[in-house]
This record gives sequence, C-alpha cells and structure tokens, in this order.
Amino acid sequence: MNIRDLKTPAYVIDENKLEENLKVLESVEKAAGCKILLAQKAFSNFYTYPLISKYISGTTASGLYEARLGKEEMGKENHVFAPAFKDEDMEELVKICDHIVFNSISQLEHHRPVWQKAGVSVGLRINPEFSTQGDHAIYDPCAPGSRFGVTLKKLEEALEANPRLLDGVDGIHFHTLCEQDSDDLEATLEVVLEKFDFVLKGRKWINFGGGHHITREDYDIETLIRCINQVKARYNCEVYLEPGEAIALNAGYLVTTVLDKVDNGIETLILDASAACHMPDVLEMPYVPPLKDALKVEDTDLDIWTIKKMYKNGISPVRAMGKQIMEGYSHVYRLSSFTCLAGDIIGDYCFKGEINIGDKLIFEDMAIYSMVKNNTFNGIPLPSIATMKDGDCRIIKEFGYEDFKGRLS
Ligand SMILES: *Cc1c(COP(=O)(O)O)cnc(C)c1O
Repeated sequence: MNIRDLKTPAYVIDENKLEENLKVLESVEKAAGCKILLAQKAFSNFYTYPLISKYISGTTASGLYEARLGKEEMGKENHVFAPAFKDEDMEELVKICDHIVFNSISQLEHHRPVWQKAGVSVGLRINPEFSTQGDHAIYDPCAPGSRFGVTLKKLEEALEANPRLLDGVDGIHFHTLCEQDSDDLEATLEVVLEKFDFVLKGRKWINFGGGHHITREDYDIETLIRCINQVKARYNCEVYLEPGEAIALNAGYLVTTVLDKVDNGIETLILDASAACHMPDVLEMPYVPPLKDALKVEDTDLDIWTIKKMYKNGISPVRAMGKQIMEGYSHVYRLSSFTCLAGDIIGDYCFKGEINIGDKLIFEDMAIYSMVKNNTFNGIPLPSIATMKDGDCRIIKEFGYEDFKGRLS
C-alpha cells in the first residue's frame, strides 16, 4: 500500500531507514569495541526488535514494564535505570535484567540485599554537574539541583562514612546529553575523568548514557570512537552507550488528513493528528517538526503574518528576502488539530500549491518519542501503526474506542 492510501492518522515506521541507522551503530560497536543498547523510552516498537537485535547488543529500560518488554521481545542484554525502584519491582528486575543502575546511594543500599543475592551487575549513576546543553533546560540532567545521579561531594561524603560503600558495584553510569554531537561528549568525559577517576578505577563497565545523535548526518563518529577507546584503555573496562533517538532517527512518519480550513486571520488547516496527543515533544521541547514537501516558516526568517501580507501585496518573499529557499513556495498555512486545546498548533509552513480539504500531509521524524508518548486527550483516536519497506506500507496495529475507554473507569 502507498503511504498516501493509509487510513489516517497513522504512524509509519520506515524499516529501510531504521536498518540504515542500525548499520551505522553496528559499525561503531565494531570499530570501538563497545556495546550499544536501545533506550526503549524513545522507541518501543517491538515489531522491529528482531531487526534491531541483528545489529546492536540489547535494550535498556526506565522501569519494570520496559524491562519486561526488552526481555520478552529482544532477549539480549537487558539493562534498567530509574530514579527509584519499588521493592516489589526490584524482586522481578533482578531476574530479568543483566545490569541495574541506581540513582542514589540510598537506593543502592536499600536494595543491596536483593541485588547482591541475585548476583546481577550493578552500577551507580553519577552527576558530573557539567551542562553542555544551552536552551533545553527540561532535558538537562545536570541543571543546578537536578535529582539525577550522585554528585562528587555526596559521593565523597558517603565514602568517608562507609569506605566499603561501593563493594560489589561493577559500573558507573552518566547521562548528560540530549541530541548532541561527540564534542560535547568529549568535554563531558574530561570532567568525568578528572572528578571521578577514583571511582572509575577498577570498575568492569562505564555507561555513557544516551543523547548521542550518532546517526545524524553531520555527527562526528571519529571523536566518539576516540572517547570510547580512551576510557577502555585507561580503565580496562567495557563501555556502553544507550541512545534512544539515534536508533530510529528520521525512521518514521505521521500521516494525517486535512479535515477543514479555517481563516480567522491566519489560514489554518485542521488535521486529524494533534501535537498534544501524537507529538507532545512539539509542545514540550518545543520544536516544529519537518513536513514532507513543505518549508517551515521558522527557517525563512519571516513570520506567517509577514509572509501572508507579502503574498497579498503581490510581493514574492523570495525576492523580498533574496532567499532561494522560498522559490515556488507560494502558500502559507498554520497546521493545527481537531482537539479543543488552543495551543495545539504544530507549526507554520509554506507549500508550493494550495492545500485542500481531504489532502494528506506527512510529518517526518515521527518514530521517536511519539508512539511511546501517545495519549487520548479529548477522546482523540490513537493513530494506527504501519511499517514501510521499499515504499510499501502495511498496517501492523489499529486502535479503537476500546483503547480510549479501557484506560479509564
Ligand atoms: C533518555 C535516556 C536515554 C536515551 O536518550 P536519547 O536522547 O533518546 O538518546 C538513555 N539513557 C537514559 C538514562 C535516559 O534517561
């Protein structure tokens, strides 16, 4: 089936692109001799786990449910990290996980009897207190006062009180990046090695967390490999990476239909997809997602009002700006949803032609942090899930009223 023939809304997983990403990740595993895990919180489409498992070493989880999914559907190395674990969950986690990473010394000690008896490999997350991301405070685990990881001061105090604190602890974990290149990893590593050298010594493994945008076109893989080799040589340990985004970056779409056009000053397309329900990162991050065959207004240095006025007065924004990128993009629309949230606006876009009711639009880079974050606010239907291989689409999951009702009482 062609992507434009899918009943909407529908997410489409691009298997070819996914495999392309996985080949890049496999080449990093081989070149650096490290292990790469899928962070399931970004992408948990277990239909693709058999494919993913051909290329990388396993899964990591944010808690019991993801850990179970990784165990059931991938069955390779299975890791878990959470800011805190419940006692009843820990009983099960030690049976299904290979590595468990604790966020604090109190969690490590609280669960010690269980993990020590089970013989699972345990690590401690540290907080290097070194931020490398400017504008995305909600994604910065190193922001002042962050609850993530043990700071140097806390660790030194705890070790002074109990020098045997880290007995049985195999690994150290840090996760500080988000959509970043390897120069930020390199800078972070320098701080980590300087501050935490005394606890890194003698560990079996060091986990560099996620946020490495390895499969992005301009990512510097050489520097990543150098960083991994440096740590392996210095501590004679295994190195793990656990990216989420990089696994399925640009490997998915969200197909939607234009239900109506409303013009109360801004020509707005009402879609059967929603930022609030189907792409919440658009509002949380916030960002404007890429749309096939369209240009984001934010990339033109103009705003929708200015562009509209130019069109109306017969001025070409191309000429006005001297910007080649707007050549032929003669229509501007705001894309919004059929929810009742006023702020459910996906973004403003320029198109080469008029968009009509019934047209299908295709949002890009919609595999990650989308399906895992879906909700049914407003009773909006959950998009079905399809796969695409060599241009041919196939529905693998559909949802209905029961999925809305079933989560309520
Ligand atoms: C979110 C997260 C990841 C994955 O991050 P991406 O930005 O999707 O690569 C990995 N590890 C931990 C601990 C995380 O919180």
